[in-house]
Amino acid sequence: MQTFAPVTPEIVERLQTIVGAANVIHRDPELAVYGRDETEDLQYRAEVAVKPRTTAEVQAVMRLSDETGIPVTPRGAGTGLSGGALPVFGGIVLSVERMNDILEIDEANLVARVQPGVINQVLQEAVGEVGLYYPPDPASWGSCQIGGNIAENAGGPHCVKYGLTKDYVLSLEAVLPNGDVFRTGGKLRKDVAGYQLGQLLVGSEGTLAIVTEATLRLIPKPAHKRVLLAAFDSLDTAANAIVAVYKSRITPSTLEIIEKAALEAAEEHLGRPVPYSDAEAQILVEVDGFDEESVDRDLMRVGEVLMEAGALDAMLADTPAKEEELWSVRRCLGEATKKVAAYVECDTAVPPSAVPELLRGVRRVAAEYGIRQISYGHAGDGNIHVNVLTDSPDREERERKLTPAIEAIFAVATSLGGTITGEHGVGCAQSRYLKLCRDPVAMRVMKGIKDAFDPKGLLNPGKVFEAKIPPPVAAV
Ligand SMILES: Cc1cc2nc3c(=O)[nH]c(=O)nc-3n(C[C@H](O)[C@H](O)[C@H](O)COP(=O)(O)OP(=O)(O)OC[C@H]3O[C@@H](n4cnc5c(N)ncnc54)[C@H](O)[C@@H]3O)c2cc1C
Repeated sequence: MQTFAPVTPEIVERLQTIVGAANVIHRDPELAVYGRDETEDLQYRAEVAVKPRTTAEVQAVMRLSDETGIPVTPRGAGTGLSGGALPVFGGIVLSVERMNDILEIDEANLVARVQPGVINQVLQEAVGEVGLYYPPDPASWGSCQIGGNIAENAGGPHCVKYGLTKDYVLSLEAVLPNGDVFRTGGKLRKDVAGYQLGQLLVGSEGTLAIVTEATLRLIPKPAHKRVLLAAFDSLDTAANAIVAVYKSRITPSTLEIIEKAALEAAEEHLGRPVPYSDAEAQILVEVDGFDEESVDRDLMRVGEVLMEAGALDAMLADTPAKEEELWSVRRCLGEATKKVAAYVECDTAVPPSAVPELLRGVRRVAAEYGIRQISYGHAGDGNIHVNVLTDSPDREERERKLTPAIEAIFAVATSLGGTITGEHGVGCAQSRYLKLCRDPVAMRVMKGIKDAFDPKGLLNPGKVFEAKIPPPVAAV
């Protein structure tokens, strides 16, 4: 196992000089927060956490890491689901939470310039006030940060129409592991000068450089939207209905699938009945646009398509309150599932037309291995979150029991031309499975890129590439 230099009291003092004593956390219980994210129940131990405010401070922290051989784990809001922000080898956690300024909303060029610690929802609301829209909206939008979204190439319920984070990143400023800073361009719509380093950083999970500023593309905010919920008596029928919507040539702004077990978890979590709770599956649809009549027409057409595809019933949200009620069920599913039992999430993604086969395969695997699972997700994107549940509090036993089932689920996904993660990243939780969907040559090229950015291997070690890492510690 790789070993690194420890954080000594002298290092803590040097960090205090860089970012100010109030922004260096080296004692529990505050420090423990920086040792976990939202991935399963994993807890690691950061030796120290620092909260820089400027790019120059980030550079100074990275120079210190480069000089001393202490690893650095970048961190946003810690909502990640693949363990990307976990300090698996200890060292310094570099949290960008104080770098949270919206630097500019440029209405002439339709771009926003932001620091990485801006919360997704805060950006959405700020640009919304001037009639603009930043579409990538993870269900965690109320807390996750733009830097974390960029590092994970985050998606969300509206990506089926509008695309992922990568489609909105025009350029970045970033700090290399040795402390050098670079910019990848400006507010340009077109710029093919050399390799697209900005796009390379999107989805790089904090393993290549620390994003310190982002220039993001905005679009005009659609003036109208309508939401519809359809109930189905089988998951299979619902999954086939997703394909029927694709074939109808209408692109909804949201196309989500939720299976019954997820609805039950949502009811328990919200403490109230959810609409169509006795259905075996639901599809949540949103259609948006600038012309009210065509939005209504498209929504009615999608409703018809779903009924023709076998929906039992469909309900139109006719008030903002009803819309919010339907959305609240979808947005709570991550937290709701977490309350049901310990779980491991398989963030599968397949071509959209293969969703029915994927869901059938998942149920086959669950029956064969005797496991419980809860599936839901961005079906319009072909991205289904399969949460494999276990009642065992013992990690090793869980691993023993669940790993073969997880491998079988990923085998189903990859056999359908899919991947082991659609939007949550590889981190440390999925690194052992990366080879299931990337060939040895692609793995070698990726490793070469990592080595070029980070020759000493000090930035977010133990992530993306399979590595022997220490076991998690007990929760503090
Ligand atoms: C309830 C719930 C719902 C979710 N729904 C979705 C969803 O719909 N779609 C989706 O895509 N994800 C979803 N997620 C996962 C998660 O919210 C996203 O991955 C999000 O992008 C993480 O952002 P964060 O700020 O919390 O980053 P963190 O978890 O803090 O970090 C994530 C990764 O980014 C790196 N990182 C953070 N900041 C920087 C930076 N400035 N520079 C370089 N690297 C950095 C970290 O090292 C780590 O590898 C959900 C999570 C939860 C808990």
